[in-house]
Formats: sequence, C-alpha cells, structure tokens
Amino acid sequence: PVAKEPPRIHRLDQSVVNRIAAGEVIQRPVSAVKELVENSLDAHSTSINVVVKDGGLKLIQVSDDGHGIRYEDLPILCERHTTSKLSEFEDLQSIKSMGFRGEALASMTYVGHVTVTTITAGQLHGYRVSYRDGVMEHEPKACAAVKGTQIMIENLFYNMTARRKTLQNSADDYPKIVDLLSRFAIHHINVNFSCRKHGAARADVHTVATSSRLDAIRSVFGVSVARNLMKIEAADDDVSSSVFEMDGFISNSNYIAKKTTMVLFINDRLVECTALKRAIEIVYAATLPKASKPFIYMSIVLPSEHVDVNIHPTKREVSLLNQEAIIEKIQSAFESKLRNSNEERTFQEQT
Ligand code: ADP
Ligand code: MG
Repeated sequence: PVAKEPPRIHRLDQSVVNRIAAGEVIQRPVSAVKELVENSLDAHSTSINVVVKDGGLKLIQVSDDGHGIRYEDLPILCERHTTSKLSEFEDLQSIKSMGFRGEALASMTYVGHVTVTTITAGQLHGYRVSYRDGVMEHEPKACAAVKGTQIMIENLFYNMTARRKTLQNSADDYPKIVDLLSRFAIHHINVNFSCRKHGAARADVHTVATSSRLDAIRSVFGVSVARNLMKIEAADDDVSSSVFEMDGFISNSNYIAKKTTMVLFINDRLVECTALKRAIEIVYAATLPKASKPFIYMSIVLPSEHVDVNIHPTKREVSLLNQEAIIEKIQSAFESKLRNSNEERTFQEQT
C-alpha cells in the first residue's frame, strides 16, 4: 500500500490559542470566582462581596474596596500576560501575591463578557469598560463609583457549547462558591466577606473582620463545629530537613462528620494537598475511638524559596521542598494533641 501523504501543519489563529488556554485557566464558574477574589485580596481589599446568578453561568460579580486600577492601564488590563505583580522570572521565588501569570482576566474575556468598574484613590469619578477577547469594546466611560473595583462576568462559556451543556446538566457551582468563600473567610479574618445569590436578601456567607480565628470559624461553619475545635501549633527550624511553622484548629473526639473538611493555606495560598490530608486522616483513625472524619483548618508558612507555586495554571497545588519530612512532623503534632485531649477526656469522665 502507498503511504498516505502527511497532513499539512499550520499555525493556529491567535484567537483559537487564547480560547483553548482560557478554558484551562477558567475550568468552571468557581474557578473564575477564585481568581477574582484573589485579585481583590492582592489589591489589599478589606471588604469583598460576591453575587452569583444561575450558578455563575449568567453572572458573577465581585466587588472590592481595594486600590483600584489606573485609567492608563485599562487598555491592556485584559490582554494575556499583563500583570502588575511580576517582572522577572526570579521574582517568582519571593512572590507574595496570589496572582502573577496575568492570565485570569484575559481568560475570562475569551469565555465570557467582562465589565470592569474601578476608581483609584483621590479620583472624583471612576471608569467603566467592557472587554471581549482580550480587548476593550469601547473607550472607558466615566461613571460614579465607590472605592475599589467591581468585576462582572456575564454568560460564562457562551462560546463553549460542550462546557456549558455539561455544567447546565450537573448541580450548579453555587455550593462550591459558598464553600470557597467560607474557606477564604476563615483565613483572611481581617477582611469582610459576603456571598449571595442574585436578588437574594440574605447572604450565604457573611463575615465581619475579627481578631479571633475561632470566632471567624464559628460564624462561617457554625457553633457545633467551633465548640469542638482545639488549637494546634507546630514548628521546625531544622535547616537540614525542613523549616516550617504551622498553626490551626482541629476537631476533637466529640466532633462528628461523614467527610473530612480540610482548609489548607500554604504561605497564604488556598491549596490542596492530598498526601497531607491522607496522613492526618490516618492519625485520626488511629487515635480517636469513634474515628469520625476530622475538621481541619491549617496554615503552614515556609520560606518562599521552598515552595513552587508555578506547577499548575490554576495554582491549586503547590509543591514543597521536603514534603515528606514536613508531613511527618505535622502528623506527630496531631498525634500528641489528640492523645492529650483523649486522656483529658477520660480523666474528666472518671472524676
Ligand atoms: P494576575 O493576578 O496574575 O496579575 P489577572 O489577569 O488576574 O493577573 O489581573 C491582571 C492585573 O489586573 C493584576 O495584575 C492587577 O494589577 C489588576 N487587577 C485585577 N483585578 C484587580 C482588582 N480587583 N483590583 C485592583 N487591580 C486588579
Ligand atoms: Mg489574578
């Protein structure tokens, strides 16, 4: 048989490339909310309010009271790879901001309709402008505005039929969005958060800034969780194996739940770490007789050069230097905390 002629290779159109990339950064409505809230946190906001319609497919609106965006920057705001947070690759090593890729807003304009309203300190009025496929649809319009920035995304995935269909056929993202805001709210306790459905009178997450982590957890997850928590702390300064500080609140033996809630921040980034979660579940199962699944809020701080934040476009995972050593140390901190509380309880029951 005669070999078939190979197909020709051609360059993809830039708009196709951008839309493909956007679908990866913004996987679902909740990923858009995460990016927007992180931008608000990066802008030093003290108040962040989220409104959602139709699970985020019709509308996601995030308003903050942060530093705002300069008028001069509006034309490139939603272009791919434009950012105020990173200049040199080396800066990644010490970066404190959540964002750095300059991709989130751009991505949203490739898969939805984005409108930005913003005002910077000392200005008499703000500006409003809408974006499509990375560019402004018109000159920014002067408008009344309160301090900060409001970003609105309408009709998410309007141009991605398959994605929209899958999302419409499954349970909507609103519970995931509420869960996300709940997690942010118990870590950033100096920020007021709210999250509500469009048109709803009541917010589903509503926190006011406090200095007590436990108060924040109580207001978000309820009294029944908060009253069964213990404070935990651990640290290691052994430069040869691992350096870290950890503190958090973890459930005691009276806490009952069917599944584990693990709220983990590493260097102030909300991340997942399956290995650490497993390791802790093992300690609980081995130490507590009733073996309920635990509630864990934990904040780990490491030297920033020990954390690689750039392993995934959604920044959902990070990779840690000496991960095994750190996990082991955290496990033993949990073990002694749980043992002690168990002994205290037995003691109380006897007396
Ligand atoms: P990144 O966060 O990686 O820089 P984004 O696309 O999320 O990229 O945002 C691009 C830029 O827009 C940010 O670097 C920031 O300067 C600005 N920006 C975005 N959202 C806000 C906001 N809520 N308040 C102030 N500036 C913002
Ligand atoms: Mg960002």
